[in-house]
Amino acid sequence: MSFSAHIITLFPDLFPGPLGASVLGRGMADGLWSLSITQLRDFATDRHRTVDDTPSGGGAGMVLKPDILARAIDAVSPEGDPRPRLLMSPRGVPLTQAKARELALGPGAVIVCGRFEGVDQRVIEARGLQEVSIGDYVLAGGEVAAMVLLEAVVRLIPGVLGGAESHADESFENGLLEYPQYTRPQSWEGRDIPAVLTSGDHGKVEKWRRAESEALTRARRPDLLK
Ligand code: SAH
Repeated sequence: MSFSAHIITLFPDLFPGPLGASVLGRGMADGLWSLSITQLRDFATDRHRTVDDTPSGGGAGMVLKPDILARAIDAVSPEGDPRPRLLMSPRGVPLTQAKARELALGPGAVIVCGRFEGVDQRVIEARGLQEVSIGDYVLAGGEVAAMVLLEAVVRLIPGVLGGAESHADESFENGLLEYPQYTRPQSWEGRDIPAVLTSGDHGKVEKWRRAESEALTRARRPDLLK
């Protein structure tokens, strides 16, 4: 069984977007993962296909109605669907590399993209939606956030990127930021590749990279070292 992602959105035309490009697109074509999209508006019941209403208690904006969203979720993910149900939300648990890895090992995800002021709290509770945030800023909708999440997850699915060892050294995988990378030419605008990297001494290369990773992490992201 390959990883199966299902998005619920008011803007289905935005997909697959970047998820269809490069290695992720190839992985999809090769059947390593799949992407289905559902238009939330298809579950509206009135003539105007209304999906939102004004916030109870007053205030700006509109809120996605619980009955419409629940119908969409139930159609996409009936009881017994093993996939986690996620709601992209700035109030959510921050997306991390560890979370991406956990999701990549699972059966997939059902992902709800919010719009306007968000979604009615009751549907979050009644359908067990896990709120996930991609960072401490507010987007206009959950679509780009869902793409960020899926891009981080899908590249970790075995076979999508090729060599599995290519993940081990990456930023966040070992609690550190990645060391600097270089490639030819050996000398460029008067700057040389650090000699240790062309020395052929793998032990020394390893040590240098570790030291660079630690120094970079200490300087830029001391919070990761705690
Ligand atoms: N009023 C809400 C923000 C709504 S933004 C609040 O203050 O919390 C509209 C939609 O964009 C949200 O429902 C969510 O789906 C998405 N979104 C915005 N910022 C996001 C973030 N940092 N991470 C994930 N999704 C986000």
